[in-house]
Amino acid sequence: MIIAIDGPAGAGKSTVARRVADELGVDYLDTGAMYRAATFGVLAREIDPADAHAVIKVCGQLELDVGVDRVVVDGVDATSAIRGPKVTSAVSSVAANPQVRSILVELQRAWVRNRGAGVVEGRDITTVVLPDADLKLFVTASPRVRAERRVAESGGDVDAVEASIAERDRRDETREASPLSISSEAVVIDTSEMSIDDVVADILLRVQG
Ligand code: C5P
Repeated sequence: MIIAIDGPAGAGKSTVARRVADELGVDYLDTGAMYRAATFGVLAREIDPADAHAVIKVCGQLELDVGVDRVVVDGVDATSAIRGPKVTSAVSSVAANPQVRSILVELQRAWVRNRGAGVVEGRDITTVVLPDADLKLFVTASPRVRAERRVAESGGDVDAVEASIAERDRRDETREASPLSISSEAVVIDTSEMSIDDVVADILLRVQG
């Protein structure tokens, strides 16, 4: 079974996708980590993320190894750095580049072809990468709740985190290449008032149904 999950920043997709994959005994792919890893590589080579030509050139050369617990870019462990502020503020600019997307989308489809099953999570999985997935979900929550969850996880000021999440949503929703949108075939799960356990249980019920 192939499960595709999309949703905005901080909706809890990664935690939920990882838990559902564990419960089903299949692998899990965090495609956001792939865009973050590519961005790390771009910044490490001191390329301006807005310089589309240079970014494409670098992305074609990068060696990305994106595992569940470890991300390595050109032999350098980037697991923590891809979650840091530098990568977080540059990633949506790199991800807006259509050629970068086509490189990463191909890697994502190959990941699925090699396994035949799995949980894949991101922004364009239900709409572009795997529109024929067996189960398509859009996991979301109010911006305030998403910011509060982020702050509970990694600290910071709720208002500032909410503003930065809203800015990343805006960029992801308004870019030309594969913007974040809700597939008409996706089931929308608003997790604002749900615990992670509730969301996982809800998805597992849909898998069985
Ligand atoms: O999921 P995460 O917040 O780690 O994703 C980081 C960024 O990567 C997103 O803000 C978005 O710009 C980009 N992304 C994307 N398409 C995906 C997954 C992530 O454009 N499938």
